[in-house]
Amino acid sequence: MSSKNSYIHSIGDLWNSGNGASEKLTIKTDRKLGENVKLANDLEATIKLIRGDESIIAIIEKIIAPVIIQCPKCLNDKRHLIEVIAGEREFLMNSPERDYDPFENFIVDKKDMSIDLSDLIRQEIILHFPINPVCSDRCKGLCEGCGIDLNVSKKHSEDCQAINALSTDTKENRPFANLKNIINNS
Ligand SMILES: [Zn+2]
Ligand SMILES: [Zn+2]
Repeated sequence: MSSKNSYIHSIGDLWNSGNGASEKLTIKTDRKLGENVKLANDLEATIKLIRGDESIIAIIEKIIAPVIIQCPKCLNDKRHLIEVIAGEREFLMNSPERDYDPFENFIVDKKDMSIDLSDLIRQEIILHFPINPVCSDRCKGLCEGCGIDLNVSKKHSEDCQAINALSTDTKENRPFANLKNIINNS
């Protein structure tokens, strides 16, 4: 917990405690988790580590992460509380001799006897993002004409100059728009 990077945890003692030993750790930090996860403030993660035969297994007990996600309709930032209650990852002591895949196989850093939990935490948070992260069910989005935020500017659509200009254009460019009148008058 006192390490420079709160997602990196030293496992030397756990490893020396022998097969089956376990340890619970709590991480509380607002340290960056990459481009796709913007933390509003500290996340809290409780993770259980189990010393296996040839690996350390990290089991998520709980992650609570306040994240900022842009509303897809009005593009304003909104805070969402993400909760994760499961997920695990095995960190191998030795990289497999065959079929080693850096995206599938995670290795203990034997130089420091440590594991880096940031990728596990980041991936689980992203998996638990809301499917439709709108700022509110009532979000009106942006004006199609001028891009103004319709949540802020009420009664805008009636007097949007961009939309009015657009509809005048459309009228002028519709060659058959007056056909009905012509036929009726003939
Ligand atoms: Zn919105
Ligand atoms: Zn407008």
